[in-house]
Amino acid sequence: MIDLRELYQEVILDHNKNPRHAHAMADATCHAEGFNPLCGDRLTLYLRIKSERIEAASFVGNGCAISTASASLMTDALIGKNIAEAEQLFADFHDAMMDKSSCHFDSEKKRLGKLAVLAGVREFPARVKCATLPWHTLKAALCNEQKTVSTE
Ligand code: ZN
Repeated sequence: MIDLRELYQEVILDHNKNPRHAHAMADATCHAEGFNPLCGDRLTLYLRIKSERIEAASFVGNGCAISTASASLMTDALIGKNIAEAEQLFADFHDAMMDKSSCHFDSEKKRLGKLAVLAGVREFPARVKCATLPWHTLKAALCNEQKTVSTE
């Protein structure tokens, strides 16, 4: 038996220590800023979209381990997806974070892949907004909203 809590922690710590795609993007086609006042997490998300497809995704952030890991895992998952797929991923992720009943790790893993580890954060309600911040920022970037999104 794998200790899920340990697995969550390992992946989150790894992505916090070595975040993927953590850089600004000069040729981004859209970007958005996000702020989670509850924790103080800030992040700017960059996307390069061509013909409805996300060619590149990156972020620059200043936040806690969970928000950094979430942004790292999210950008990794977004690259190569089209807009509809990205929106579906957002919906699946949002559902997983809001599902407080029990942990359906197997079915989540099927839908979310590596992102399923972030669903473990829902056991710590105070940190859920840290994990969802990059995703709300993604929504804003896809709509090309210029203002800073807040999780509040
Ligand atoms: Zn945070």
